[in-house]
Amino acid sequence: MLVAIVGPMFAGKTTELIRRVERQIIAGRSAAIFKPSIDSRYDALSVAAHNGLRLRAVAVPPDESGVREIAEEGAKYDVVAVDEVQFFPPSLAEALDGLADDRLVIAAGLNLDYRGEPFETTMRVAAYADKVVSLTAVCKICGRPATRTQRLIGGRPAPADGPRILVGGGETYEARCRRHHVVPGLREGAGAPRRIGGRRAVG
Ligand SMILES: [Zn+2]
Repeated sequence: MLVAIVGPMFAGKTTELIRRVERQIIAGRSAAIFKPSIDSRYDALSVAAHNGLRLRAVAVPPDESGVREIAEEGAKYDVVAVDEVQFFPPSLAEALDGLADDRLVIAAGLNLDYRGEPFETTMRVAAYADKVVSLTAVCKICGRPATRTQRLIGGRPAPADGPRILVGGGETYEARCRRHHVVPGLREGAGAPRRIGGRRAVG
């Protein structure tokens, strides 16, 4: 069984992943959570260690060696969870699909990058999934359901020609709805009409 949890930042994907893993641990099943070693935002061990439950969190490099480690280590557990799958190469999808033949696999990842383009690994995992849980955040501008992640640099929308993954570049992120997701050079956002085929169309 493969469950994919997808959505923008601030949608509660990690919380949902840990909630699902904890239920399995309470039922006496062994579980491991893998996350990319570049992500230091949270410590899954401390998050999941209450109620006297033990959960092994493993940080692995977000490359082919990390995918191999997840496949080999993951085979020792009843439940395998992987957070931030978008950082891993697309081959992670086949590794998780294989593991899911004999155990529960739960994978969480960002749906779209800051430009609004799909993360290949997340989409590939979702394609193999038996169940896809699509979560939304709340738009920082209007309060409606948010499906996009807005990158801001110095408080202003980041241009379309920036790197897809920024680590420690002084950037911040907000959840935004389709209407308020702004990418200068790509999407004007803020309800601005987009020109399609020479005619004005409401975005
Ligand atoms: Zn909005």
